[in-house]
Amino acid sequence: MKKKIVLYFPPTVTEQPFTYYLIKDYNLMVNILKADINPHKEGRAVVEISGKETDFQNGIEFLQSRGVKILPLEQEIVWVEERCTQCGACSVICPTGALVVERPSMHVQFYSEKCIVCEHCLQACPSRAMEAHY
Ligand code: SF4
Ligand code: SF4
Repeated sequence: MKKKIVLYFPPTVTEQPFTYYLIKDYNLMVNILKADINPHKEGRAVVEISGKETDFQNGIEFLQSRGVKILPLEQEIVWVEERCTQCGACSVICPTGALVVERPSMHVQFYSEKCIVCEHCLQACPSRAMEAHY
């Protein structure tokens, strides 16, 4: 089997060599398609994993036991600009700079390519301008 998934790493585990473990201990091939991982910060990687189904399931269980969140690739965060009141609350809570207050205009902008789908902005936004799409 071959599957594309999104791995979300909380700050406490971003320095662990998960790719190495998946290859060595679970006989999986891991192709990193996109990664945004920084030490001591939340991170996200889009990976394509291939191997036996049982090895894949065991590898996923291992990652989850270490605090890694597994997301389907289809999930994405959408900014509904018409609802945005430019309050800036999301830019304070966004860990990757995907939501920022641009200067000097002081307008909020959403850079989806930086989003790690942590969903913090969904709770922070008073106008429900941030949505998770599946
Ligand atoms: S889900 Fe929201 S808070 Fe999290 S990275 Fe994406 S834009 Fe930022
Ligand atoms: S928290 Fe919501 S309303 Fe406020 S700037 Fe961000 S998206 Fe816009």
